Amino acid sequence: MIDRQLRRRGIQDEKVLSAMFEVPRHEFVPAVYREAAYDDCPIAIGEGQTISQPYIVAAMTEAARIEPGDKALEIGTGSGYQAAILAHLGARVITMERNPWLAATARERLVRLGYGGIQVIAEDGSGGYAAGAPYAAILVTAAAPKVPQVLFDQLDDGGRLVIPVGTLHQQVLELISKHGDKASVCDLDPCQFVPLIGKEGWPEGVR
Ligand code: SAM
Repeated sequence: MIDRQLRRRGIQDEKVLSAMFEVPRHEFVPAVYREAAYDDCPIAIGEGQTISQPYIVAAMTEAARIEPGDKALEIGTGSGYQAAILAHLGARVITMERNPWLAATARERLVRLGYGGIQVIAEDGSGGYAAGAPYAAILVTAAAPKVPQVLFDQLDDGGRLVIPVGTLHQQVLELISKHGDKASVCDLDPCQFVPLIGKEGWPEGVR
């Protein structure tokens, strides 16, 4: 996974590569898919949701430029894998999941694997989590129709927002960096995420 999927596609940050090597991805997928845990694809985790493809996790993490002690918000906990990668890099992580079963399962898993410092919040995270702001990095791991201004507002000066933006079926991974009240936007990769459902995302029931 590290050499064929990540290095070969341009992931260069050794700290990110090392985190992806060390965090046991097979613990974050259902037992029936364990043998496929390191394959080059997303995997179903129940409730119609997925753990993202390894390359996408690495690309988002690299773009977020996490430094130890950074406060990071993830929206879309899913299995908890992305949150564990961020914590492994030394971030103080808050992660939000709208599906209560996924949130509870991820919370238990993260505690069991030694990532009990991650705060898992079971609610719509499309508007972020103002009580924890400002954040050095916000990663949205579900597809948004547009960049929610409220997420930009919750970034610290110098903060990075990594978010897939587009239609329900095709998005571009965007890196939005905050400089004072100004934003710089960089398109990273084409991607396909499940939808961000909620107040600042898509309405419930979209497909
Ligand atoms: N980052 C996850 C991981 O490492 O396993 C994968 C995330 S999965 C592609 C997207 C997740 O976003 C789903 O679990 C979905 O329930 C969640 N989601 C969708 N809309 C959300 C919202 N408004 N707030 C919080 N979570 C949301």
